[in-house]
Amino acid sequence: MSALVGPSADAARLTVLSGPSGVGKSTVVREIRRHHPEVWLSVSVATRAPRVGERDGVEYFFVSDAEFDRLVADGDLLEWAEFAGNRYGTPRSAVFSRLESQQPVLLEIDLQGARQVRRSMPDALLVFLRPPSWEELVRRLTGRGTEAPEVVERRLRAAREELAAEEEFDVTLVNSSVQDVCGELLAWMMDPNSQDRG
Ligand code: ADP
Ligand code: 5GP
Repeated sequence: MSALVGPSADAARLTVLSGPSGVGKSTVVREIRRHHPEVWLSVSVATRAPRVGERDGVEYFFVSDAEFDRLVADGDLLEWAEFAGNRYGTPRSAVFSRLESQQPVLLEIDLQGARQVRRSMPDALLVFLRPPSWEELVRRLTGRGTEAPEVVERRLRAAREELAAEEEFDVTLVNSSVQDVCGELLAWMMDPNSQDRG
């Protein structure tokens, strides 16, 4: 069982990136992974099947339902949620040890997870990624071609709820350009004064 104490007050910044499915979160994270090794990207556990090209331990640790149950029971997840029929969670100890070693940490998680982090780690920076328009979100999600039509429908239903929660976040970035969003996100992550955001 892991200790449930959080990182100390002088630990590095924890940033959460959320937004509706298809908005471009994974694309932004991939870009940051490629060009900014100073940022540590948490790798979540997930019960869904890997998409073509996804590797275990890189995009996710792909686990069975029984393994996920065990992680929850042991208190090993900082947060977790069920999303569109699958479960996803953030391994707690890896996040805390990176923060303690002064490395900025980025979590790419859904709205329910962002709310849990807000409660357990109030100093975390919550960033909402918004599409330029609803039509563009539908285009991106269907254009990705990785989900069956009924799964796309399910994700779009969740997207309406997620878009309505934008005001719960500290910062909104509009994903018109991946490069621009990465630059803005990094600026927020590295800015020591943005703890005082009002
Ligand atoms: P998410 O991780 O939020 O579900 P993805 O990163 O998988 O979304 O992106 C969904 C689709 O949108 C992908 O096909 C991706 O290439 C595309 N995409 C992402 N960002 C942009 C952008 N700024 N402009 C155009 N297409 C984008
Ligand atoms: P996907 O199946 O498209 O990779 O992810 C579906 C949703 O799950 C996305 O909104 C993504 O942000 C979210 N997600 C991924 N990992 C986690 C996690 O560890 N915790 C939570 N709460 N959501 C996650």
